[in-house]
This record gives sequence, structure tokens and C-alpha cells, in this order.
Amino acid sequence: MTQNSQNSLHEIDINLIEMTLDIMKYVISRITEKNPKLGYFKSEEDLAAMVGKTITKEGIGGEKALNIWKEILAPASTAIDHPRHLAFVPAAPSRAAIMFDLVASASSIHGAYWMEGAGGIFAENQAMQWLVSLTGMPNGAFGVFTSGGTTANLSAIVTARENWRKHNPQNQNKKGLVLTSIGAHSSIKAMAQVTDAEIMLIDTEESLTEADLRKTLSKMQPETRSRLFAIVATGGTTNAGIIDDLAGIAQVCAEQKIWFHIDAAYGGGALATDTARHLFNGIERADSVTIDPHKWLFSPYDCGAVIYKNPELAKQAHTQEGSYLEIFKDKGADGFNPSDYQIQLTRRVRGLPLWFSLAMHGTEKYKKAVERGIELAQIAGTKISRNEKLELVREPSLSCVLFRRKNWEPEDYRQWTYKNHKEGFALVTPTKWRKKDGSFETCARFCFINPDTTPDDIDAILATME
Ligand SMILES: *Cc1c(COP(=O)(O)O)cnc(C)c1O
Repeated sequence: MTQNSQNSLHEIDINLIEMTLDIMKYVISRITEKNPKLGYFKSEEDLAAMVGKTITKEGIGGEKALNIWKEILAPASTAIDHPRHLAFVPAAPSRAAIMFDLVASASSIHGAYWMEGAGGIFAENQAMQWLVSLTGMPNGAFGVFTSGGTTANLSAIVTARENWRKHNPQNQNKKGLVLTSIGAHSSIKAMAQVTDAEIMLIDTEESLTEADLRKTLSKMQPETRSRLFAIVATGGTTNAGIIDDLAGIAQVCAEQKIWFHIDAAYGGGALATDTARHLFNGIERADSVTIDPHKWLFSPYDCGAVIYKNPELAKQAHTQEGSYLEIFKDKGADGFNPSDYQIQLTRRVRGLPLWFSLAMHGTEKYKKAVERGIELAQIAGTKISRNEKLELVREPSLSCVLFRRKNWEPEDYRQWTYKNHKEGFALVTPTKWRKKDGSFETCARFCFINPDTTPDDIDAILATME
């Protein structure tokens, strides 16, 4: 230790060792806890009153800050991996992946360029190779890990648009158009807006079919059609787990030479299963695919992925230029540069936790863990059908179950959600589903990700609707 490191942020001393041990102890107890506390939010005023001021000139010390985290802030955050957290799309990262997330941080790897990140990127790419193999996309297809489904979708949309513009100089000044269905995730609309593209939504409550698509295209004005640069299908809608007719849509896109993007951010994990894989037939013909390992492939936040049939097109759209970047592209540092294939430059090697967990456990355990989510949805479906007070709104699809409590109003679902959450028992949220007459019904929704959720958990939640 040199003298001028005495007050350094980076000093290695007894405080650092103690803080490190305390944090490891906390992390180990958190990940070995089979039933983590669910957690419940508090208002900002309440948190401010309990926590006080933590950022001071002198610092409050690691012990105090960690205690504030443990005693106040962690309980005010919901544990997404709780076995009775069945809301939104939850997550259940494997313990191996969580531990390796710490390694990714500790290793300080800049994951943008091979020159700096080769070892980490090599490992990420082996995990990516497995993801690509699940899609059945042709040789040469490859992808990169992104911060999530939103950035994966954005990276794909930008690639599609640049490709469209390249093919026809007249498109340079045209406002592009993205065609999808109302079942598409909100991020498709939001990212179309980011790229200043118009979005058109085909109105289908169930899966988007080839016939729906052909009908929409046949009615489209030539001017509108000339601006259409991408069709987005969903491989497992977030609300109900519905998979569009990927093979039919692929056929139309191939005939009409339109970029075909599949958003399988949530459903993509099911590609690993035997029971649901066939529902995705046609995915191998996509130009780009989004899959979120932080949803149904047991990675910690945040980890999405975008895969391209022709990564060269993504490279043309995303490569950043700068005199300070030239060395990374020099022959001497040749290799796969993840920053060339998506919107982000500096990036965490966020595929590394997935790589370690896959390498440790093998893909068979992943397959079984995803399969369990589908089974749990089927089990819940049977229990709901047999319960006089409950009814399925539609058959379970992937790991989503939509169901109603007879005679409940939207307010009843609201109260029920807050009560279960506040009691630290479960987080199950309502959603909406369109009825035959066009009006929307509020109903309950399960989304199963965590293989540790049990049939007893399902019974116990259903019992709160008595
Ligand atoms: C969750 C989800 C997204 C958005 O992914 P983030 O990782 O939250 O950015 C996009 N599409 C679908 C279908 C999703 O379920």
C-alpha cells in the first residue's frame, strides 16, 4: 500500500475484507433461502423516514449501508423469484447463474470488443450457439446478448429498417412501417416509435394467422405497402402465451420480401422443450429473433438476446465508428465484436451467468425446468376447471393461465391482488381479455416460470378467491 492510497476509494484493508464477507454471507443466505420473503413496497415518504440520508460527505460505512439494505430496502422490493410470484413474467435465476453474475462484475470485462473481452465473449458465444440451435435457424445465424427484450427488438428493427433503406435509395426519406398484431408486446410499439416508424396493428385476439396477414396486405394502399419494412410476430404473447402462425407468416414474408422478426422474449425458453417446440415451427425462417434468458432461461437481470439469420446485416446497421475505436477493428485484434450487432457500445458480458449455469448443469436440466412451467400451467388449468367458483377464460398456453372468479368485478381482483401481496403471501395480478362482444373482461392470470412453485402453492392461491 502506498501512502497516497490511505484515503483511496480502492483501499484494501480490514474494512474491505469485512464488508466482502458480510456481503457474501448475505448473498449466500439469499440464494439458499427456498422461500424468500415476497416483499412489499412502501411509499417514498415512508422509506425516506426509515432510511434517512445515506449519501454524506464522509460516508455512513459499509456495515450501516448493508444493514439498511437488509432491513429496510430489500423488504420493500418484491422478490421476483418467490415461488408464489406468478405475476407479469416472473423470473427464477439459477443459483449458479446468480453466483456467476458476481464473477462477471468482479472480472471487470468490457464486453464490446473481442480485443478486450475475448474470454468472456467466447463463453457467451457458446451459450449463444445453444440458443441459436434451439431456433433451427440456418448456418451462419448468430446473435448477441442485450440488456433485455426491448433492446433486442430495437436492434432488430433498426437492422430491418437499414436493410430496407439500403435496397432502395428512395426509402431513405420515407417513414418506415412495422406491421404486427395487437398481441405484440408494448416494446414493439415503443421501439417503432424510437425509430420513428409507423406501427400498424392487426386486430386478432388469438394468434396472428397467415390469412389475417394476407388480408391486411391485400388491402394495403401501394404507398403504405412501399413503407412496410418489417413484420413482427410473437412467439408467446406476454398476456396469454399465444404463439402466432410463424410458418404461415414466414411464407408471406419470404414471398413478399419483408423482414420477419419474431419476438419470443417470453416464450423463447419453450424452444428447449419437447412438448411445446412444435408450436414454434417456422421460427427457423425468421430474419431475426428475440429471446430473453432473464425470463424463461433462468438468468439474473438483465439478459436478453437478439439472433439474426444474417448477422452481417446487423453489423452494417450497428457498427460504430470513431478514431478511438479503430484499433478494435484492426486485423491484429480480429474477433467477434458484440457491439457491432446491437445498439449498445460498452456492455456487460451479461451472457456469462447463463454460460456458467448451462455449462455446470447441462441443457437437459434447462429443458426440464422450462417443461415444469408448462406442466404447472396445465395443473392449474385442471384445478380451475374443477373449482365451481372459477372458470378458465381460455385454455392454458405455454405457462400462462387466464381465469375468472365468477361474479367478481374488477375491483374484487384489485383488492385480492393487494391483499395477497401485502400479506407477503403471493403476487398474482389481474389482466384483461377481450370477450366475444368486443368488450374487455378483467380476469386473473398466472404465469409460471419458477420450477419450485408447487401444486400446493396453486391450491393455496386459489383458496384466497373463495
Ligand atoms: C417482456 C417482453 C418484452 C420486453 O422485454 P424486456 O426484457 O422487459 O425489455 C418484449 N417482448 C415480449 C413478448 C415480452 O414478453
